[in-house]
Amino acid sequence: MYPNVDLHIAGAWTGGGEGQTLPILNPATGEEIGRLAVATRADLDRALEAAERGFAQWRRVSPNDRSKIMRKAATLLRERNADIARLMTLEQGKPLNESGIETHVAAEIIEWFAEEGRRAYGRVIPARGEGVMQFVLREPVGPVACFTPWNFPINQAVRKISAALCTGCSVVLKGPEDTPASCAALVRAFLDAGVPGDVLSLVYGDPAAISGYLIPHPVIRKISFTGSTAVGKELAALAGRHMKRVTMELGGHAPAIVFEDADVEKAVKILGGAKFRNAGQVCVAPTRFLVHDSVFDRFVDGFTTLAKGLKVGDGLDEATTMGPLVHGRRIEAMEALVADAEAQGATLRTGGKRIGNRGNFFEPTVFTEVPLSARLMNEEPFGPVAAIQRFSRDEDALTEANRLPYGLAAYAYTRSAERAALVAERVETGMLGINHHGLALPETPFGGVKDSGYGSEGGTEALDAYLVTKFVSQAAF
Ligand code: NAD
Repeated sequence: MYPNVDLHIAGAWTGGGEGQTLPILNPATGEEIGRLAVATRADLDRALEAAERGFAQWRRVSPNDRSKIMRKAATLLRERNADIARLMTLEQGKPLNESGIETHVAAEIIEWFAEEGRRAYGRVIPARGEGVMQFVLREPVGPVACFTPWNFPINQAVRKISAALCTGCSVVLKGPEDTPASCAALVRAFLDAGVPGDVLSLVYGDPAAISGYLIPHPVIRKISFTGSTAVGKELAALAGRHMKRVTMELGGHAPAIVFEDADVEKAVKILGGAKFRNAGQVCVAPTRFLVHDSVFDRFVDGFTTLAKGLKVGDGLDEATTMGPLVHGRRIEAMEALVADAEAQGATLRTGGKRIGNRGNFFEPTVFTEVPLSARLMNEEPFGPVAAIQRFSRDEDALTEANRLPYGLAAYAYTRSAERAALVAERVETGMLGINHHGLALPETPFGGVKDSGYGSEGGTEALDAYLVTKFVSQAAF
């Protein structure tokens, strides 16, 4: 049903050097479903040596040949989709169809990067003197250390691996300890497709110990991290001390503005779906719903009805539309946010409690009129808790949208081209969806501003992070 999960180092799947393992729990039942190998310092050293050898080998493979191997990996993922999706649901909790979609989208991401890597062109700059040629070459940065979380066990990893591989970099990936098997299945697809064993290593263990060792290590030339802003700032500081390039995809607290001229039913359906997908454990999930007075009641009624209609349960059950939270710590976090919002006078419209005492199930929760001092209005909930606020002047909604230090995603619903343009101009965000969701396609930039990080994990911008520039000026003999 569910395998024990090993490390992949230098072409071999292996237990940790000291034989230590961690339990892997099913969040729907709380039961242990497998054990995860823990990397030692010596294991990390072997992964680093492999990454150095792998880089020397992989950078010499032509982009065309790298592309062929990557496309094969995408095909393997599609063929294995049903098995991988099941693993993901067992370890992560999300409904099986969401796991299947994530695996399918990963194949699309690999294919897009496989092709884009063939177009990582340099350029020729006209020279000032006769007989001089000036070239701008783009070269792979080197071995990359990637750190990915548990909310999208495959998709967080596949964006980093694909951008690295298509540009000729090697990778040491520290995958998510809570959800390791589906991430390992992704790595296996790349290896089975022909990525050399030294080029892609996968390790698990103590995240702080691993990042603390890999980031300063001279072999590693670039860091890519997805996770919380607090951890991201620590890792970025460490990388800065060692002059390592960094991509940081961090937390968000997305505002969703519903203007007076919005299609309210459409807004409820799309924003409600986005809020509770993956039980709200999504960095781009809408969190602060800013709704105009004139449509406030309609929006709140519709949104609350949608939340009440969700079927919370085991992701393996076909009827389930929202699964459990990934681990018990998220339940505690939701309970604390709810208690604080209630204590500060917010109105609870639905939800607010843990469901049962087996598995990490939490009710889809909707608050309205939440004081700005409440933690929910300031901290990323990363769970199924929404806050709906009223506004009467557009200007106030824009001010609230920009109040927090986060700037990952934002949403707006309006039929006015003028309002849409205003939001696009004024909201401080890395990504903005107007009248639809439309984010996170392989070919579009994915990343934040302000405390939500920097760099992109999608679109052609994603390749820039893995390439360095070399200028060559050559005169005739
Ligand atoms: P956590 O801080 O324990 O872990 C979050 C992620 O960061 C995990 O993948 C973990 O392995 C990693 N991590 C933590 N410390 C690290 C370190 N020193 N070095 C390297 N990696 C490290 O918290 P959690 O309870 O698992 O998740 C809670 C918070 O994490 C959420 O509130 C959310 O803000 C954030 N998170 C964000 C994303 C995202 O997509 N941006 C995904 C998962 C979690």
